[in-house]
Amino acid sequence: LHVETQLGEGVVVPVDGNPAHYLIAVMRVKPDDIVLLFDGRSGEWAARARDIRKRDLVLECVAQTKGPETVPDFWLCCAPIKKGRIDLIAEKACELGVAKLQPVLTRRAVVDKLNLDRLHAHLVEAAEQCGRTALPELAAMVKLDALLRDWPSDRCLFFADETGGTPLTEAFAAHPGAAAFLIGPEGGFDPTEREAIRAHPQAVPVSLGPRILRAETAAIAATAAWMTINGD
Ligand code: SAH
Repeated sequence: LHVETQLGEGVVVPVDGNPAHYLIAVMRVKPDDIVLLFDGRSGEWAARARDIRKRDLVLECVAQTKGPETVPDFWLCCAPIKKGRIDLIAEKACELGVAKLQPVLTRRAVVDKLNLDRLHAHLVEAAEQCGRTALPELAAMVKLDALLRDWPSDRCLFFADETGGTPLTEAFAAHPGAAAFLIGPEGGFDPTEREAIRAHPQAVPVSLGPRILRAETAAIAATAAWMTINGD
């Protein structure tokens, strides 16, 4: 729900965006009920429900309950994997405090396009559930060679390499500061991709142990580990 309002003003919530329908028909909001609103970037407001009608209702913002939040400077870069699994990565990335989700197209990816609207909806739902008010940035998909070419020189690119690398927490401890984690698709990176990534000055190959993890397992495990060491 995109809310641009000052405290005390009434905000008419239209049904077409379906928040009003959800509030009236699903949550059965009644006059004077308090609803929490957030716009995904600048905070959270408590609003009192007023003038509830069939097709819309007025929410009067009565207090700002959370200010803009900052999350740890961690990006998750992952190849597009099957629908339900990339949705899981988006949801867990939001809960765990990831700042930016960067889809990366690699040669062996079985999926070569992503529905960013669907992923955004999962981010919003996860934010509502976990109480996050600033959504992760969801970037458009880029090809791996472009990602490497334009990579910022001040950010470490930890690269999940199932063929071997520095143990995860040792690598994280050795490279504090702005970070990103790159994970391959179900089929992994191909040898030339692996070589290109390893050749990058900011890339640090890391191992998540002796077993082959699913991409979503690697994403969640690595993000949780990094947040434990560097997080909020
Ligand atoms: N090609 C692999 C499967 C890829 S797993 C195979 O079948 O042998 C999907 C991605 O998860 C990999 O590209 C890698 O980025 C990450 N990954 C999985 N297990 C890992 C491990 N033990 N260490 C580091 N990264 C791992």
